[in-house]
Amino acid sequence: MAQKYCQYLANLVFQRDGYTLCNKLWWKNDLFCSYKETRLEYFLKRREEILVNLYKGEVPTGCNDCPYLHDMEEDEFSNKIKNIEINHWTQCNCACSYCSNKDVSKLEITNKRNQKGNVEIMPILKQFEKQELLDKNLKINLVGGEPTVLKEFPDILKFVMKHHYSIDLSTNGIFYEKYIPKALRETPNSYMIISVDAGTRETFKKIKGVDEFDNVIKNLAKYVKEAKETSNRIMAKYMILEGINDNREEIDKWIEVCQSIGITSFFPDIEFCHAPKNSDVISDNVCEMYEYIKERIRTLNPKYSIPAYDFVDTFIKNKSFTVK
Ligand code: SF4
Ligand code: SF4
Repeated sequence: MAQKYCQYLANLVFQRDGYTLCNKLWWKNDLFCSYKETRLEYFLKRREEILVNLYKGEVPTGCNDCPYLHDMEEDEFSNKIKNIEINHWTQCNCACSYCSNKDVSKLEITNKRNQKGNVEIMPILKQFEKQELLDKNLKINLVGGEPTVLKEFPDILKFVMKHHYSIDLSTNGIFYEKYIPKALRETPNSYMIISVDAGTRETFKKIKGVDEFDNVIKNLAKYVKEAKETSNRIMAKYMILEGINDNREEIDKWIEVCQSIGITSFFPDIEFCHAPKNSDVISDNVCEMYEYIKERIRTLNPKYSIPAYDFVDTFIKNKSFTVK
């Protein structure tokens, strides 16, 4: 039987309610285990079984029609965890109009640090390390909720630095965390994205529900300074929101303020959590603004970069959230 593989089977995702190997079609397969009902040991045993069966050519239930499944390439198979996504947050220090967590998981809005998540990650990471389950090139993605709000956040960064793993961090930049630039400097392949989404205080407040624009820019400037030669790993994001910030004036101001603090990586994005619920069509203006950002950055300075984001580029090309 032909062997199939999917890179997401080397993942482990901590979601709000449970663990899963896959963050793509997890709801339709049997890879999800709730924290309440399943002990980690059982989850790991299930993971092992799935991988052994996969190696024998047996595809897990729910993966059958998945577009990510492909013929296994030589040396592709591994039972190590290569990617851990931490997405179990329950609190955030702002209230973005586009937040999917706010709708789905009733995210609590707080202005405090040192909050608890739904599961303690650090003991699990240490256990995995002891069991030699972690790949030497492990990447830890900290997404959703707001990582800097969590009590364990600095410890996770210290763990990553100690073992020379990498992080991929998404933050709103409202709280400054001194270990972030250190992690960018000291680990091989780490990145941070700060969602600024605006070029002015008024628009920022409209989008985020908090008056923190000046503070975010101040923190961003400090991160750029502290990250030193790795500052190009800090990306300023602009989520284009219809009727709110989808105009050239706001975009120009965002570019201007980012330039003034030494940002060199710019990340345009579109909102695809809520928008598709209302309509499958991406408006001409949103598509135009996306291309406008890319073009402006490309022509401003040859040293400036935009991450490759094929997923969104395809949506923009089709002017639709349906991939044809
Ligand atoms: S094949 Fe699809 S459903 Fe299965 S693990 Fe990969 S991404 Fe997830
Ligand atoms: S920063 Fe992220 S988690 Fe917080 S409200 Fe905004 S989108 Fe939601």
